[in-house]
Amino acid sequence: MSTSSRQWLERLRALNLPRRHKVMNVCGGHERSIAMTGLRKALPDNIELVPGPGCPVCICPEEAIYQAIQLALQEKVILVTFGDMLRVPVNVAKNEVRSLEQARAAGGDVVPIASPLEAVKIARARPDRRVVFFAAGFETTTAPVAAMLAEGVPANLSVLLAGRRTWPAVAMLLDSGTPGFDALIAPGHVSTVMGPEEWAFVPERHTIPAAVAGFSGESLVAALYSVMRQLTEGRCFLDNCYPEVVRPGGNPAAQRHLTATMDVVDANWRGIGVIPQSGYALKPAFAAHDASHLYPSFNEAMRKRAGQMPPGCDCARVVLGKVYPDQCALYGRACTPRNPIGPCMVSDEGACRIWWASGVRTPREKTPEHADA
Ligand code: SF4
Repeated sequence: MSTSSRQWLERLRALNLPRRHKVMNVCGGHERSIAMTGLRKALPDNIELVPGPGCPVCICPEEAIYQAIQLALQEKVILVTFGDMLRVPVNVAKNEVRSLEQARAAGGDVVPIASPLEAVKIARARPDRRVVFFAAGFETTTAPVAAMLAEGVPANLSVLLAGRRTWPAVAMLLDSGTPGFDALIAPGHVSTVMGPEEWAFVPERHTIPAAVAGFSGESLVAALYSVMRQLTEGRCFLDNCYPEVVRPGGNPAAQRHLTATMDVVDANWRGIGVIPQSGYALKPAFAAHDASHLYPSFNEAMRKRAGQMPPGCDCARVVLGKVYPDQCALYGRACTPRNPIGPCMVSDEGACRIWWASGVRTPREKTPEHADA
């Protein structure tokens, strides 16, 4: 931990916190920094850090992954996608293909990519093949997809879009009346694109302190100090603790690309359900590049009955900050990174995988304190 982080921690410890407070962080990158630096253990006992909806892979609807698998296997497209989607399992019988990785092993043309530019490159290199870019992600990932579309893509490239917006999930938690947290650390990278103002509703509508943070320990502890100080002083506002990167208004060019190519729609979050205005869909003008129009959906009613999460998997409640990863009965037993049961153990941004990587290897003992937040 840097000197500056230690100084922020000392200030945090000096605050006179009247009671225990829960602070939610809304970013897989934040959770990784928190877990890897051991920040939780360094905090005063009465501050609890809860990982929230910060993993786009974890909430990507099961039916979208199933569709991507079927497009690779049945429609014989070249299916390109970000690497951490490959091992996310869907709910099918054991003898069926349950992930894109297995689809590739079964002969499907599944190619991991790191950026939309690679999707364009592959489509240009293979004009004889149809290429589908399965694009799941939050605003930071969806904006480059929008830029790719705005700039023009080859005729043989289409997008199976599962883009999601972060703030509506937090709004849903707050509107529920039982959000399970007293203050919020808002995501830095999303704010870089969309502007920190998107999070102003948290203090303004819900009188809950909020601070935008980057990924360094210093920025995170500064944000924690900000929201804790607000709580002790009975104030609440949106603080920007990542000003070197997050500017008022965000990135106007990225926002223009999003607006030009995509509509904001109600969207399904895996295991959670439909959240109003939380997703992106391609505009009708891009129908020729919209895989959801070009190909069968493979979303028959039976699949919907299969359920969004594997039996026993608590990912949805982990994503919503209702339980910690090691409170899932399968954590470290049936579910490990080597044999993941749910998406939170697959993605680098999934809380279960992050906790495992940080050395938490066993489920925690059940105590009344660990009931739902
Ligand atoms: S430990 Fe595995 S089964 Fe449990 S919530 Fe996490 S990913 Fe799901």
